[in-house]
Amino acid sequence: MNAQRVHVTGVVQGVGFRPYVWTLARRHALSGWVRNSSSGVDIALEGADDDLGRFLTELEAGGPPQARIDTIDAAPAPSAGYTGFEILESKHEPDVALPVAADLATCGDCLAEMRSPADRRHRYPFINCTNCGPRYTIVRDIPYDRARTTMAGFEMCPDCRREYDDPADRRFHAQPVACPACGPQVWLEVDGRRESEGDDAVRATRARLAAGEVVAIKGLGGFHLACDATSPAAVARLRERKHREEKPLALMAADLDAVARHAVVSDAAADMLGSVARPVVLLPARAPSSIAPEVAPGRREHGFMLPYTPLHHLLLEPEAGFPEVLVMTSANLTDEPIVHRNDAARARLASIADAMLLHDRPIHVRADDSVVAEWRGRPYPFRRARGYAPLPVRLPFAGPRVLAFGGDLKNTFCLTRDRHALLGHHIGDLEHHENTCALEEAIEHYERLFRISPEVVAHDLHPDYHSTRRALERGGRDGLRTVAVQHHHAHVASCMAEHGLDRDERVLGVSFDGTGYGPDGTIWGGEFLVAGYRDFERVCHLEAVGLPGGDAATRRPYRIALSWLRHAGVAWTPDLAPVREADDDELALLESQLRSGVNVPRSSGAGRLFDAVSSLLGICHRASYEAQAASELEAAAAPAETGSYPFTVIGDVVDPAPAIGAIVEDLRRGVAAPIASARFHRGLAMMTRDVCRRLRDAHGLARVALTGGVWQNRLLLGLAVELLVDEGFEVLLHEHVPANDGGLALGQAVVAIAETSERAR
Ligand code: ZN
Ligand code: ZN
Ligand code: FE
Repeated sequence: MNAQRVHVTGVVQGVGFRPYVWTLARRHALSGWVRNSSSGVDIALEGADDDLGRFLTELEAGGPPQARIDTIDAAPAPSAGYTGFEILESKHEPDVALPVAADLATCGDCLAEMRSPADRRHRYPFINCTNCGPRYTIVRDIPYDRARTTMAGFEMCPDCRREYDDPADRRFHAQPVACPACGPQVWLEVDGRRESEGDDAVRATRARLAAGEVVAIKGLGGFHLACDATSPAAVARLRERKHREEKPLALMAADLDAVARHAVVSDAAADMLGSVARPVVLLPARAPSSIAPEVAPGRREHGFMLPYTPLHHLLLEPEAGFPEVLVMTSANLTDEPIVHRNDAARARLASIADAMLLHDRPIHVRADDSVVAEWRGRPYPFRRARGYAPLPVRLPFAGPRVLAFGGDLKNTFCLTRDRHALLGHHIGDLEHHENTCALEEAIEHYERLFRISPEVVAHDLHPDYHSTRRALERGGRDGLRTVAVQHHHAHVASCMAEHGLDRDERVLGVSFDGTGYGPDGTIWGGEFLVAGYRDFERVCHLEAVGLPGGDAATRRPYRIALSWLRHAGVAWTPDLAPVREADDDELALLESQLRSGVNVPRSSGAGRLFDAVSSLLGICHRASYEAQAASELEAAAAPAETGSYPFTVIGDVVDPAPAIGAIVEDLRRGVAAPIASARFHRGLAMMTRDVCRRLRDAHGLARVALTGGVWQNRLLLGLAVELLVDEGFEVLLHEHVPANDGGLALGQAVVAIAETSERAR
């Protein structure tokens, strides 16, 4: 006989871990117990040496499918003479952090039951088990028990209770367990009136969608607005009511086959679509397709996801006459947080939706759909939210507990403890007060949920960012040390941290981005940095040009094009598209603004150069959403073209003037926009390679981190990676956080850890 105590950490709660241990222990004839603690799972074991050894070997092999084990510590313990193996009540420790599971897409077993007429959960839209269902979005506190979720208000019926209490059952301690007799219900509301309930409501919703209506549907992390994606009229109606003129809309189809009829789905993309996180996956669009062009104007991609809740499966069920693809876009007013409460939906979505499919399971934490692209077989994140939050990213080294506030665009925050970086879900643009409130709420929730009280606050160097102000307020209130991190340094550091680079390592960071406060008073965003975690040097950068009218110019790419033309010494003649966009008065005003420099901040943002070229090629003169001009420029590029435009490098400044001049020449020779777009992309990639080569010689660094929102351009990314690799560089790309500002908080946090723990040493 031997006795051991085992402590397991990682994502081990809400994923069927205890029944897994229970089954494993019984299989190896071990006695003892298992229980959740605030820091993980504790196991007491007694039995023969061999059996104990086999138990631990199997546990180390991975646990149940959705678990993510970080550590297993086993130590000999005094024997207590247990008889049998039990699952004990959770032990609550007041000050210990524990990762909470992310929300999980409906599993195959639950789907089969939902589709079986004999099952008591036949067509029940809230079926779930220990392998699937809501987690993060319903958790109010830890340990993860029903009473601390939004299921607390639903009293289990005897049948559900029996399953919940039976360790041999798939629903043993599945906290959201429910059935039609005791669980949440759906209903359809029209003009505030309950029109139908249960399955009738689902069928009525389908009928309305098939008829071209817009229906607001309560989901897992918030509401969607849904309509028939194959009906131009329905999509146009949704756009018009949502005032979202051109931004691409996310789509949902019943299964992979349906997706593959409208988009190109590689094996890797199929894995991402079908993963438990169920993100929106950006896929090359097929042409022709029955999807309305209004879904993604000017783009060659569609963002598709597969159903991830039982309700989605019921709503999307294939049937003759029912649309094969639905628009499923986050329900919010432009750039506000996603609506997640019934009363808010009634107040805010009534003018957009013809009807609302509601349910009575509260959403505690709102979470948008995550968005990823495929990059050479791996997910390349664009937005990290539902399905990923709050799974931690592992840091390369530990230090003080840091709360990083991120930036003002695509805001996310980050809380660290030991070597865990807990990344908040995507919040949005803090220009909207509602989003700033959502940020504060989410931070409060995380601090409570993970029992983390920060010692250091990190923020962007920009003094006027809302995130900076909130960070300084917080630091002042609690007397915490604050650390300001330069925007592009944070981008580079986030990429370094993802790749586990150690404390003293350095890289060539290429941060191509729209914007970022520079310590010299200009806006940075075409940056080559020699960077470590603690510091960086700006060793080369794009030329800065004036942005007439400042930030407002980003909505009007033609103005940026005019500024670049002026810089390149090209006269504003009416054969050039951006010149035709402005009338004579505006041209005169811009000319005098640019000459005087008054109210004309200077920007080296690579994103602004894309804006300028997009307008110059007549592709996009006015942007209705962020990065529209650049995205449409990328989509327009001719794939087979191999020419390129020249950039000159003088000292530590890259001047795109020769490229601008060459584009104008090409246009005047009648070269088509797709060819010119391709040449611009390749020229920029070649310039990146050339500058990195110089910097390698000067600084002895052969590792390049590509970061900043511009790198979401996969055409540019592909060209640059190929050229850099050919040149012998090791290239680091983002895999866990977005290259855009959604990744800033991680970078800020790790810079703050490196800085403050260095000072403490
Ligand atoms: Zn299930
Ligand atoms: Zn029940
Ligand atoms: Fe940025």
